Amino acid sequence: MRYHIDTIPVWDAVKEGKGCPLCRLRRTVEENDVVRFLGGSVMEPDTRVQVNAKGFCPRHQVLLYGQQNRLGHALMMLSHLPETRARASALLKAEADALRSGQKGSLVRRLSGRKDEKAGARTCAEKLKALSSSCILCDSIRDNLLRYTYTLLHLYSTDSSFRRQFVENGCVCLPCAGDLLAMAAEEMSPKDLESLLGDLADGLDNVMAQEEKDLKNFTLQFDWHNAGKTLEGSTGSLERTVNTLRGYCLKEPK
Ligand SMILES: [Zn+2]
Ligand SMILES: [Zn+2]
Repeated sequence: MRYHIDTIPVWDAVKEGKGCPLCRLRRTVEENDVVRFLGGSVMEPDTRVQVNAKGFCPRHQVLLYGQQNRLGHALMMLSHLPETRARASALLKAEADALRSGQKGSLVRRLSGRKDEKAGARTCAEKLKALSSSCILCDSIRDNLLRYTYTLLHLYSTDSSFRRQFVENGCVCLPCAGDLLAMAAEEMSPKDLESLLGDLADGLDNVMAQEEKDLKNFTLQFDWHNAGKTLEGSTGSLERTVNTLRGYCLKEPK
């Protein structure tokens, strides 16, 4: 699959220094999307149709709520709610009707269908779960990140100064390494793929080794022998470690 190449944001994210550039890009896309969805764009018919169909996941509801635009948030929910209500009611009623008509059928049909008479309810449960787990923001972030991941691989393969800077920064966090490698396996030449594997292995190992030292120092600060001291690398080590292991989720202290 080919994606549109968008080098400037990817280069900028790498130029910012250590830390995963893909997580940085994800954060920027998310912040912009949250603001955008509470702004004028949500009134555009295309966006409105998608918001109505997909809604927002709990994480993105919290971020939207944090924008303190209660009217904008309420208007979106007021648009999404009737459609969701209609779909949920239709699913449940259709299943209730199906069960009722099955029970009214002939004895032979009821006995032969006995094993599977609840299969419809299970399917209905899956559809209800899908109805309450889709998120237009998650979809937008995923689409943007696929494009950025593709661009990163393109720059890695074609721009030696990018590759140098990317590797010097320690490459990417562990979950992003998985995403990067999954796309690299589809898109890269075997030679570039081999280099990337080596760089990811070294990058992650070096970053994690440093974080292990820093985190150890952080825990040693709680020993009374070190009361009042700030040991080397300890500041932000807990946050950096979590962010490397699971992708950016904790802001580092200043
Ligand atoms: Zn990352
Ligand atoms: Zn979401």
